[in-house]
Amino acid sequence: MKAKNKLRILNPLLLALLCAVVVMTVGYFLYTLRDSAVYFENESKSIAQRYSLQTVDAIERESGGIFDEAQRIAADVANVSGFEQMDVFGNEKVQQYGMDCLQFLKAGEAEYRYGERVGSITAVEVQSLIQGGVFGVSEIYTDFALGVPCVAAYCPVTGNSEVDGVLAFYQVQNVFVGGSVLNELTQYYCFAEQDGTILESWKADGFKEDVSHNIYTYLYNISESKPETDPIINATKERISGAYTLRVDSEDYIVSCIPLSRFGGDSFVVQIYRVHDLLQSEHTLYDKMFGSAVFLAIVAVLVLIAFVAVKFSSSKQLAIMDEYDPLLGCNSYNKFIRDAEELLSINRFAHYAITYFDINKFSYLKDQLGPDAYEATLRYVSTVVKKMAGDNETYGHVMDDIFVMLLHYSDIQELSDRIKLLGALVGAYELLRSRNYNLTLAVGVYLVERERTFHIQDMIDRAAIAQKANRTINDRHFIIYDASIRSSYIREAEVEAKMEYALKNNEFKLFFQPKYSIGQDRLEGAEALVRWYDEATKSYVAPDSFIQVFEVNGFIAKVDRFMFLEVCRFMSEATSRGEHLVPISVNVSRVTATQPDFLAYYVKTKDEFKIADGFLKLEFTESFAYENYETLEKIVTSLKSNGFLCSIDDFGSGYSSFKILKELPMDELKLDRFFLRSGVEPGKDEILLQTVITLGKSCGMVVTQEGVETLEDLKRLERYGCDVIQGFYYSKPLPMSDFLDFMNEDTSLSGITSLYEAARKQKL
Ligand code: C2E
Ligand code: CA
Ligand code: CA
Repeated sequence: MKAKNKLRILNPLLLALLCAVVVMTVGYFLYTLRDSAVYFENESKSIAQRYSLQTVDAIERESGGIFDEAQRIAADVANVSGFEQMDVFGNEKVQQYGMDCLQFLKAGEAEYRYGERVGSITAVEVQSLIQGGVFGVSEIYTDFALGVPCVAAYCPVTGNSEVDGVLAFYQVQNVFVGGSVLNELTQYYCFAEQDGTILESWKADGFKEDVSHNIYTYLYNISESKPETDPIINATKERISGAYTLRVDSEDYIVSCIPLSRFGGDSFVVQIYRVHDLLQSEHTLYDKMFGSAVFLAIVAVLVLIAFVAVKFSSSKQLAIMDEYDPLLGCNSYNKFIRDAEELLSINRFAHYAITYFDINKFSYLKDQLGPDAYEATLRYVSTVVKKMAGDNETYGHVMDDIFVMLLHYSDIQELSDRIKLLGALVGAYELLRSRNYNLTLAVGVYLVERERTFHIQDMIDRAAIAQKANRTINDRHFIIYDASIRSSYIREAEVEAKMEYALKNNEFKLFFQPKYSIGQDRLEGAEALVRWYDEATKSYVAPDSFIQVFEVNGFIAKVDRFMFLEVCRFMSEATSRGEHLVPISVNVSRVTATQPDFLAYYVKTKDEFKIADGFLKLEFTESFAYENYETLEKIVTSLKSNGFLCSIDDFGSGYSSFKILKELPMDELKLDRFFLRSGVEPGKDEILLQTVITLGKSCGMVVTQEGVETLEDLKRLERYGCDVIQGFYYSKPLPMSDFLDFMNEDTSLSGITSLYEAARKQKL
């Protein structure tokens, strides 16, 4: 049960987890989308800057390459001399490095010249480079001859009498523009001077034409919102690298401007990218959004897996629990049913018995023992059962203290011996023996027919019916189910079906059995006994057939209260008519006496009917006194202080204990009919009867013998000093009107309670 509950809790837990994950993921989604416009802008700017820097790096690297080439040529040319050699060398180098023009200088003049017609040695930028006399790369300048931007690298030559310097010229567009330096997303690229003059530019197909040759003008022209370009111009003039948004033809672009450190230091690179391309290229935000979606999906899948796993394991667990009793560590009832079915069908011709049992009065022991000892006892019983079940046999725990076994047997004697052994082993439980509890079993047996006509459940039901019968009979090791058991079971079922109606329909009647005081020779009192007049059959139902059933099912408590109420009513009415009364005894069953409001109800009712003290006597059975000694002691003390008399009923029928006689402050001791039966040694019977009467009297009680049928018995009892007799000899139980007559015929009714006072005074 507990495990099932746990499982039930797990599902809400998983649900809560799932909700938490969804909430977190949605939150994360919103977070990523928060200020997305700003985010888009910043993100695309930073991507643009990164791409532009890559371009600039490439340019710087290329220019470094130019410089390296010039240096290498300068070193090599040191060893070359003569016009022809120089020619071969020069052409070879132009081929090798791919510059546009290579010149070897002597005293500032070009002595040798290879390659294209570019190479304006007179250009200011080139002149200042040569005059510097050290390695270097010129600023970008416009070549006179071709009118295109060029750059030159210079390196002095040492150790050659014919030349003293190398100049390598490159067209900017051949070196810096093209696949090597431009990112493929670039829509526009230019190399410009600080005043905006474009030295070299490139644009993607479809992007705006450049007609102005000035980058500032160009940006201004293409921009949809003109003031946008101001910050670009300002920053560029200040040589601050930056990225700016620009709207062209209803589309967002990023303009990235980065100053170049080479080439004299005032030129800069401008690149334009489409925002959409930038974001797509890096998948940044999309990545995150997509990532969130993937994350959500993964989490959902994980949760689903966890859910399925838990479900699976819980159903597995349920399957295990279904077969296994976790509390007792043994087979469950379901497992028993499955195993028993299988065993019965495999071993078709073997004799099998379904043995169904529980522990007598175990619910009562449960209260007395406390939960720990209760559980320990059940575990002990389950171990015994487990060990008893041999090959081709099985067992299961039904519920509470009920177990069932499928036992194999060859003859009834063998089965009987095994059941006795089972009872003996359970009874031997040390924990309870040490506490003076004697565990006994109520066992019902169903002998499985060879034809296996019944379903297993029907067989178990039959064993249970026999077990129930044993519980009420209670002096046999086990009861085997047969037709008589079945009919008594059916009768019991009928009784149970009718009882509530019977109570409402006033079918329960109050009878009185008069009691005779031997010493005073008169009516001493009476015992109220219930009778059931069944209106349907117009006949009395035998008390034996319903009292026991009511005691087992607890209905006796209602009957007892009804009887007590009727007795009070009877007494109050008789008193008001001015009749002489005798004390009336009312039976109190174990179930009634242990009800929480037992005392309150009885005292209240007695008060309500204003019944005088000493006229109501309550009978508690010996077996109840034995098992609930402490409870009863409290009850009796309290009852007596409220004017009740108390009696021990059926003394001698069970575990008669000296303690009950000695310690419980009872007014009356009622001896069971057992004492009147003659055994094998009549002499001993007499001694026993005499002793118990003397004992009762010496403990301050009035001693009453029940079931006195003969004058002979009355005489014996008189001899031994018995005070009161009750039995057919004096009177049968009488209906109320007859009892009233009986009472009125006795003219000596006065000073009734003195019998009890006298008994108390005689107490040793
Ligand atoms: P009990 O309390 O021992 O009642 C005495 C029983 O002995 C009565 O049986 C009575 O009819 C019977 N009896 C009386 N004199 C003789 C006799 O000379 N010979 C024989 N053989 N029997 C005699 P009854 O009325 O059948 O009641 C049986 C039991 O049912 C009672 O035994 C009592 O334990 C229980 N009972 C009866 N009425 C009530 C009730 O209202 N409440 C409770 N809790 N139990 C009741
Ligand atoms: Ca009684
Ligand atoms: Ca009795």
